Amino acid sequence: MTKSKGSAGPITKEQREDLVAASLILAQHGVLDAFGHVSMRHPADANRYMLSRNLAPELVTSADIVEYDLDSEPVDANAPRGFLERYIHGEIYKARPDVHAVIHTHSPSVVPFGVTRTIMQPIYHMSGFLGRGVPVYDIAKESGRQTDILVREPGHGRDLARVLADKPMALMRGHGNVVVAQDIRVATYRAIYTEMNARLQLQAMMCGGPIEFLSKEEALLTEATLEGQIHRPWELWKAKVKIR
Ligand code: MN
Repeated sequence: MTKSKGSAGPITKEQREDLVAASLILAQHGVLDAFGHVSMRHPADANRYMLSRNLAPELVTSADIVEYDLDSEPVDANAPRGFLERYIHGEIYKARPDVHAVIHTHSPSVVPFGVTRTIMQPIYHMSGFLGRGVPVYDIAKESGRQTDILVREPGHGRDLARVLADKPMALMRGHGNVVVAQDIRVATYRAIYTEMNARLQLQAMMCGGPIEFLSKEEALLTEATLEGQIHRPWELWKAKVKIR
């Protein structure tokens, strides 16, 4: 196979499988449906990232992975059509050298927290990472105009990355969220448990009375413990999807 011009080269079979698996796993958990996407920074070149072509996450196969530069232009000029919102990925990779995986979702239970004054906070140990803070990106406020809500311009992506700052997750008003991590497994974990936390927090609110969220210290301690256990959910989740 001829290497396309300027490509950083192939990624390993396991890395490619993990990227495909993440889309399938998130679809299986109802975090992604026909929309949303998962990317991975290229393991051999920090200035590139890998993202599927414009396709529903559940249909993604290894053959659908496209290499992009950080301006979100495909490295291969003949690459299939990409996602309108791919700037979410490129601009976050530019702003966050520590981030090696980005997930954009319309995770249904998180949406209320992007449109109300209710702050999403860690309800249990599984979502301790939320204790680092949950910013809300408002495209109208950041861009100063009315849009179709999609992060379809590099400038929108830069605004989103600035609002995300050093956090693991940002809500997107009237849209969904973006989740980042040091690798694809932790990012997938965080996207799933952000959805779970949102559901549980809404249920706790229905119980009434003040909610005893995890303290900041508890949140950080649980985050460290859980991320050391990431192999366990990952093995389970990966075994339950059919990677092609
Ligand atoms: Mn979207």
